[in-house]
Amino acid sequence: MIVHFYTAPKQKHEYNIRLLKLLCQHHGIEVTEDVKAADVVFVSCCDTMDLEILAKARKLGKPIIAGGSVSFMPAMRLWADYVCHGEAYDFIAKFASIRHLEELVDFPEVATAEKGQGVLNEHIDYALNPLIQCNTTAYYYYCGKGCPQLCQYCALAWSRTWQKAPQILVERAIFTMPKKGRLFPMVSFWDYTLATPLLKRLGILDVKIKEYNRTAGYYAGKRVRTGVEFVDADVRKKLAKPLSQEEINTFIHYTKRNGHEAVLYFIAGLESTEKIIDFFSKVPVDMALQPRMKLVFTYFEPQSITPIGDFRLDHRSTIDRDEIFAALQQMNRRFRFHQMGGIAHSTWRALMGRATTLDDLDYYWSLRNVKENDVLLEAAAKRGHMGSLTLKEVMARPRATRKVKYVYDGT
Ligand code: SF4
Repeated sequence: MIVHFYTAPKQKHEYNIRLLKLLCQHHGIEVTEDVKAADVVFVSCCDTMDLEILAKARKLGKPIIAGGSVSFMPAMRLWADYVCHGEAYDFIAKFASIRHLEELVDFPEVATAEKGQGVLNEHIDYALNPLIQCNTTAYYYYCGKGCPQLCQYCALAWSRTWQKAPQILVERAIFTMPKKGRLFPMVSFWDYTLATPLLKRLGILDVKIKEYNRTAGYYAGKRVRTGVEFVDADVRKKLAKPLSQEEINTFIHYTKRNGHEAVLYFIAGLESTEKIIDFFSKVPVDMALQPRMKLVFTYFEPQSITPIGDFRLDHRSTIDRDEIFAALQQMNRRFRFHQMGGIAHSTWRALMGRATTLDDLDYYWSLRNVKENDVLLEAAAKRGHMGSLTLKEVMARPRATRKVKYVYDGT
């Protein structure tokens, strides 16, 4: 079988495409740049937005095999002929020896519209993962999946069990880079205990606030990032992670003292603008501009595979970014407000995850450029995808949990 990778222009050199091509090469599968010469088209979707590539690939008139981090979405198997559900290492090894595409239906991990979802394959052959240079100094290395934090809305945590590459491989990747190289590990939860000189080689360090505070931020890297998620401590504890305002303030204090630039992630939509301003009013005043602290807000987007995937889409509200920014300027000038998408966009993404029929999927796809949230909510109500869970109900019930099945540490 001759394979063509159909990609978006910006995706062409992305890590996952280069990794997949390498796996094909490893198993002797011919890859062509000429779509006409291909027997089958491979499409990689690692985010809802990548469904656009799948939508375009359907027009090529070739059979499509799709995969990627969002392989759990029904949309994938509705639009592709076959979906590899989970990691592609075993799939590509087996694909190398098939003679007819129909044989794929018998692969346990393969999903199709008729067959339904496949059995999740979580086998990552870390030793095969390449270190890939993406610009002069940035190197990427795939070193884990899933997340043990189990935030209640996060598909990364609920679509996979947590696993990570053996530390020795991460260290080897760092040693392989030239002196000026910086490693950007592809992982949703950083849990390696690298010695300080090795930490220095990371482009940005994902930190846990409690851990950072415990060591008074004694990290050698210049940039750190972490998720605060919600400004209300109770919501934070129930939906994300338990962190007190004092712990967050201590973190902000240490980043200042250590000269660390930081990125803080927040989720908007469940708390009012006033509540957000109130949260920041409790952070110590600092009128110096450095070191910068970037605030990244994204609207709450309940992902269908999570315990709160059925959250009511009309129970989220917009925040006034300008009002928050103006208030921040009076209190702490280290903060920079990252550009944020509108609530309509997150509603649309949630609807793409909720569509389980081709008709719904095509309909929601046709609404992808709609900017008015009300129009999308109306569509959701008409098609029975508004959701039923309220924040009050989520707060009243126990936090969902699951077993972290395994952590691959190479032993
Ligand atoms: S939101 Fe971040 S910390 Fe929470 S489960 Fe997802 S990846 Fe982990």
